[in-house]
Amino acid sequence: MKYRRLGKTGLKVSEISLGSWLTYGKSVEDSLAAKTIHKAYELGINFFDSANVYERGEGEKVMAQVLKEYPRESYVITTKAFWPMGEGPNDRGLSRKHVMEQVNASLKRMNLDYVDIFYCHRYDPETPVEETLRAIDDLVSQGKILYAGVSEWSAAQIEEAVGIADKSLLDRIVVNQPMYNMFNRYIEKEVIPVSEKYGIGQVVFSPLAQGVLTGKYKGGKVPENSRAANESINQFISGMLNEDVFNKVEQLEAVASDINATLPELALAWILRQPNVASALIGASKPEQVEQNVKAIDVELSKEVIEKIESILG
Ligand code: NDP
Repeated sequence: MKYRRLGKTGLKVSEISLGSWLTYGKSVEDSLAAKTIHKAYELGINFFDSANVYERGEGEKVMAQVLKEYPRESYVITTKAFWPMGEGPNDRGLSRKHVMEQVNASLKRMNLDYVDIFYCHRYDPETPVEETLRAIDDLVSQGKILYAGVSEWSAAQIEEAVGIADKSLLDRIVVNQPMYNMFNRYIEKEVIPVSEKYGIGQVVFSPLAQGVLTGKYKGGKVPENSRAANESINQFISGMLNEDVFNKVEQLEAVASDINATLPELALAWILRQPNVASALIGASKPEQVEQNVKAIDVELSKEVIEKIESILG
């Protein structure tokens, strides 16, 4: 495994990280989830992602329970809050009340004293950013979180938070978690440049476009046991299953084969070409997927290969 600094912090995270959305505590049974998480750890992955909202805490529980077998200092574990956790008006968002309560609830569920990173899972237009940053600052002082991040915040929202933190001597956010893959590159224009300016690193989710960039859905076939075959979760992936995408996937697969790599390796190596990306945050429903995906860290992309990919993606 290779490790990168998370933005300007001293924290080192594995170039490939593993998350629990739609998988652990949900579509993947616990024993298989455990095998997959163990495999990731054995392969040097030290960075594990969760959120309160992933199956209302089940994703957190499964991941934390498996990782308990390892020394706490050997892994970095995260959680998030923002999305509704109940029906009440205060069961959502980034108010001081909700953030504090949710971090405490996550720690209890995971049986941990602290999480390494707490993310604001989205921007909350109904809470002043300073209120959230103050809550985060207090959580850092209490030792319940070590670093703070945001997820899917725009460049302007990130700048707003940095400005307030600097002015009020509050803890700054050090990481952003956006979607980034060959089919969704919106962060390249503004989010990455602004993040670089403030020493914020990206941990990018859905780097394989939820499995589409493995080639498994090519030609419109939906393999048994895949995310797209699962009726309770295929709504998240169905928008990507179309002719244009399949055509591009086929061409990208040829590029991968020319350099003796697989498509997921190419897709992840392409993401890791960005120095501002600290880690590509994958999901995996079985250990073999982790095994295949971590090989990406040894795939070097030449200028010519990157240009070929650009011409395919248009
Ligand atoms: P990916 O793009 O890596 O998709 C993962 C899925 O693709 C797997 O569960 C598996 O699905 C399939 N897959 C992965 N590798 C292979 C392989 N080698 N061969 C065949 N199939 C493969 O990432 P996710 O969309 O799952 O997101 C990863 C993590 O990012 C989440 O767990 C979560 O922690 C985080 N996330 C954060 C969000 C946010 O708002 N901050 C939003 C979404 C995700 P299957 O086998 O079932 O087909």
